[in-house]
Amino acid sequence: MTSSLALLQEREQRVLCRTYGRYPLAVAAASGCNLVDPDGREYLDLLAGIAVCNLGHSPPELLEVLREQAERLIHVSNLFYQEEQLVLAEKLLATCGLAKAFFCNSGAEANEAAIKLARRYMRKVKGREAYEVISLAGSFHGRTLATLTATGQEKVKDGFEPLPEGFQTVPFGDFSALERAVSAKTAAVLLEVIQGEGGVRPLADAYLSAVQDLCRDRGVLLMVDEVQTGMGRSGTFWAYQHSALQPDVLTTSKALANGLPMGAMLCSGEAALGFEPGSHATTFGGGPLLSVVASRVIDILLRDDLPRRASVLGEFAQGLFRDLQSALPGKITDVRGRGLMLGIELGFPGQEVWWKLLEAGFVLNLTQDRVLRLLPPLVITEADLRRFSSALGEILESSPS
Ligand SMILES: *Cc1c(COP(=O)(O)O)cnc(C)c1O
Repeated sequence: MTSSLALLQEREQRVLCRTYGRYPLAVAAASGCNLVDPDGREYLDLLAGIAVCNLGHSPPELLEVLREQAERLIHVSNLFYQEEQLVLAEKLLATCGLAKAFFCNSGAEANEAAIKLARRYMRKVKGREAYEVISLAGSFHGRTLATLTATGQEKVKDGFEPLPEGFQTVPFGDFSALERAVSAKTAAVLLEVIQGEGGVRPLADAYLSAVQDLCRDRGVLLMVDEVQTGMGRSGTFWAYQHSALQPDVLTTSKALANGLPMGAMLCSGEAALGFEPGSHATTFGGGPLLSVVASRVIDILLRDDLPRRASVLGEFAQGLFRDLQSALPGKITDVRGRGLMLGIELGFPGQEVWWKLLEAGFVLNLTQDRVLRLLPPLVITEADLRRFSSALGEILESSPS
């Protein structure tokens, strides 16, 4: 089955809802850090399916547990006890200071669970009519009605009004604006420690600790969306662990099962009191097949010290990009990020540079019009990063602006 790109585009127009603006590349196979198109041409994957395939594509150790578990038990529903989900919860909770887990199938659903928990905790446990979730401008939290309302970007809301009540966004990194926004109605503050879709924007440590104190003082839950930043991506297992933050709720998904759809909402024992049997559920959440895969993902991340590898390689890459920045003044205006979550901001719209990189065999993302975003597998090598950096240098050198 090797259809050309043009043929796929034509067929897709006929049968799929037009929800995606796709890159002009079809992927027929992938392994490690490489993507292969239908003609057999290889590309270096610097995006990992948007921070999903942290261990690279189809790592043999995951294929092994996938096959073994598929033969034993794939699905049984959450009406029954099963050990695989418990093993995963124990492993996941051991990576952070939280006490309870709820499993679901995506990042949006993990945030949806967090929002529902915050509301129900305030109402049922605290006896307070506090239901509002405050999030930040530029954030991304998902595409369900509640999570798109929490998302601090207007484009995801276009045409979907009326939106659910009880959400408010405040300017990015502006503590006094947040302080003014918190009221008796506030249930939770929801934030990404490093905004991903928003253009790889880290929140300052001082801001985070001020938010922590504010939430404690006002009895508001602090919820971190680690859907993109988690699972070693930022150089620590969770991005909040770069700071002294102690969130009440953490959501994760993307890299949790390295490409299979899984999400989780982790919370403190106190916040968990907001749910009781029947409050929340999902058919596939924490199914045995994906649970063993995610458990093995965590084992491998810890065994191979991949968060540390992400940190070391991230600094190495930022060094390369900073060298480019000084060699080509004006063309690169900022290099930022943490671990292998990297942003290279250009001094001009980046569409053409992005396109030339793709032609040269490098797959990455352009966000906010001028930020080249790299989210490579954590198993990428220095040699690959160097190869990308010199290709970028050559392209920028010959680009007009
Ligand atoms: C991708 C993403 C989501 C949404 O995850 P889906 O699995 O697409 O629903 C939520 N929050 C952040 C920070 C993300 O990057």
